Amino acid sequence: MTDQRPSPAGDRLSDRTRTLDRSKIRVMFDLAEAYDGDPIRLQVGVPDFDTPEHVVDAAEAAARAGRTEYTANPGVPELRAAIAETMARESDVEYAPEQITVTSGAMEALSLAMLAVAGPGDEVVVPTPAWPNYVNQAQIAGATPVEVPLPADSGFDLDPERIAANVTDDTAAVILTNPSNPTGRVYDEDLVCEVARIAADHDAYLVADEVYGRLTYDRAFRGAASYVDAPENVLTVGSCSKTYAMTGWRLGWLAGPQPVVDAVSRIGESTTACASSVSQQAALAALTGPQEPVAEMKAAFERRRDAVVERVAEMPSVSCPRPEGAFYALLDVSVLPGDSLDVAERLLSEYGVVTAPGNGFGDAGEGYLRLSFANGLDRIETGLDRIEEMVRAETA
Ligand code: PLP
Repeated sequence: MTDQRPSPAGDRLSDRTRTLDRSKIRVMFDLAEAYDGDPIRLQVGVPDFDTPEHVVDAAEAAARAGRTEYTANPGVPELRAAIAETMARESDVEYAPEQITVTSGAMEALSLAMLAVAGPGDEVVVPTPAWPNYVNQAQIAGATPVEVPLPADSGFDLDPERIAANVTDDTAAVILTNPSNPTGRVYDEDLVCEVARIAADHDAYLVADEVYGRLTYDRAFRGAASYVDAPENVLTVGSCSKTYAMTGWRLGWLAGPQPVVDAVSRIGESTTACASSVSQQAALAALTGPQEPVAEMKAAFERRRDAVVERVAEMPSVSCPRPEGAFYALLDVSVLPGDSLDVAERLLSEYGVVTAPGNGFGDAGEGYLRLSFANGLDRIETGLDRIEEMVRAETA
């Protein structure tokens, strides 16, 4: 006799799964995949460079030498030491190697940090427009994300007053993405200090996502933990992904106070156990080897940033704040009809250009499109020509 009970498969899902929003960036990705032709892809957050040769060589050698087993949860000691040295050299932040745990990308560092410090009843303050994963990560941890829209009229600069108005004793963490994805903004240190003070006054952590810290164009960058009043309240997140064109190697880290770092590596024991052993050796080569490839990539991003800013300034009816870091520009297209997902869909279907709709980064991003300049200059220029064509056609 066959069992007639309905199968729970498919609809017996946890509540936390139901609350997760589908990323609008992902929607565009799927539409681009289904697009008939070769669209200009200005939506991706992936450097269009190869991982430096010496890094690939080091990974190959490590795999051949049998460095293919699980490592200790927080990573191999030589990599943790190299991360500590790199952070001290490049962003002025002092952490002992024991205060660093290696993770599968910054993505895992952030989600485990959220699980370690936030839970039901807690709030996580996310200044927006922001990378959408923070909201999901807070929800997965059972906490409530609180979006704080930053002011568009100041190019989405950090606004301590607005943040203070949303930080309470329930706040477990305040997110600070510096340089920002999607605005490319690099925040003044005094504003970061104020936000850090607000968080510390409420016993909340400042989660400093500094994955784009090595990609700033107009001024040097220092990590928040090097200059705020209470560095013991800062959780610093870093990654090899953007700096070394290593997004697929999945190698990031979290640095911070010992109890949080230990908790993150304890939780990690039941998620990934450790970051890939081969990727850890690749990261070691990236951090300790020649840094010329980083300088070359950064110079290319800077040339493209300048080209985007110049080209957008020539266009009628649209504008973008000048990105100071990362490789994104946020284009104000609020003159065009529909919400930003409608605009992005039309731009793809009628002009063959893929962008990320601003409303995928929170309500504050409505009316904008994020353009990534992790793409060749000729593709970027063609993409911008087509955007101008659309703007002229729709505002005529
Ligand atoms: N943080 C920000 C602001 C990002 O834009 C990204 C990737 O796009 C990440 C973290 C994730 O980086 P990783 O590849 O190291 O997981």
